[in-house]
Amino acid sequence: LDFVLPQELKGNIRVFCRVRPLLFDDAAENEPKTVSFPTTTENIGRGVEVFQHGQKHSFMFDKVFVPESSQVEVFVEVSQLVQSAMDGYKVCIFAYGQTGSGKTHTMMGTPGSFDDKGLIPRSLEQIFESRQTLQNQGWKYEMQVSMLEIYNETIRDLLTINRPGSTESGTKQYAIKHDANGNTYVSDLTVVDVRSSREVSFLLNRAAQSRSVGKTQMNEQSSRSHFVFTLRITGVNESTEQQVQGVLNLIDLAGSERLSRSGSTGDRLKETQAINKSLSSLSDVIFALAKKEDHVPFRNSKLTYLLQPCLGGDSKTLMIVNVSPAPSSVNESLCSLRFAARVN
Ligand code: ADP
Ligand code: MG
Repeated sequence: LDFVLPQELKGNIRVFCRVRPLLFDDAAENEPKTVSFPTTTENIGRGVEVFQHGQKHSFMFDKVFVPESSQVEVFVEVSQLVQSAMDGYKVCIFAYGQTGSGKTHTMMGTPGSFDDKGLIPRSLEQIFESRQTLQNQGWKYEMQVSMLEIYNETIRDLLTINRPGSTESGTKQYAIKHDANGNTYVSDLTVVDVRSSREVSFLLNRAAQSRSVGKTQMNEQSSRSHFVFTLRITGVNESTEQQVQGVLNLIDLAGSERLSRSGSTGDRLKETQAINKSLSSLSDVIFALAKKEDHVPFRNSKLTYLLQPCLGGDSKTLMIVNVSPAPSSVNESLCSLRFAARVN
């Protein structure tokens, strides 16, 4: 095995791996397999093997999803974690991997489709369904949604009515602030009260449009930026006067591919450096938390600073590392698995 961190060090951090199917574009029919799955009792459903230059690299995670795994099968393993946000936990679920490895498929999938919708729409359906049930036990919930993008260490509001380029959006600060309770918020960010998963779907659509506007303008921005969906849940039980405040953060990270240093110049180089910096900061933070180190370097990137209250303490974190089985991606796949194994 290349990497395994002992279970007792991990606390509330889990790492899953999902290998997507080979796609038509991968054009790999006659090449030897690059990814396989061990079937011995101790690593079935948890192990993944990658072959590079005739050498086998083995990894173990909390769970491994094979190319045939469906969106439902993935959600079944995540639903308890999602539910804990209703009980007042702070939850972060990240999708990590190179561009084209299946991050957006895992997080969003095809919204509105019964089989292919991803983790975000399924989580919201579950949350609003359970709100209905809990209401009968005296609970009253308020839910608020915000969606933002971090591009080049700059925050963009995806729910603002101001389109990019309009005069007013340029005057907003979008600074990360800490409040008296140790929670973070982003100044000027749009926060919307929501009462149903349909309302959230509507907002997700709007955010997707806002992202794709940037995409043509800014160099495939969506794969070069982090997408952060946040649902804040406040519950009050009217008979027992119990209160809970949970947060569910669902994050589609920027593509983790290493762009060749010689090939990138100017804006592209700056962009790459910003992504590398924030992804390695994320790994540093999760690693420090897993090892229960005294100093956790939250302030090294916007992403970790924003999510600070939801990463430490008794919060719960899940990293899903997405991997392509294409032979042409073997180097990137190994990089992703090593990254994930470090935080695992
Ligand atoms: P990323 O967001 O990491 O760049 P995508 O989610 O856009 O990657 O996936 C790249 C392509 O692979 C898309 O066409 C997507 O539909 C497809 N894909 C990804 N994962 C799966 C999967 N588990 N099953 C079927 N198709 C998938
Ligand atoms: Mg994507």
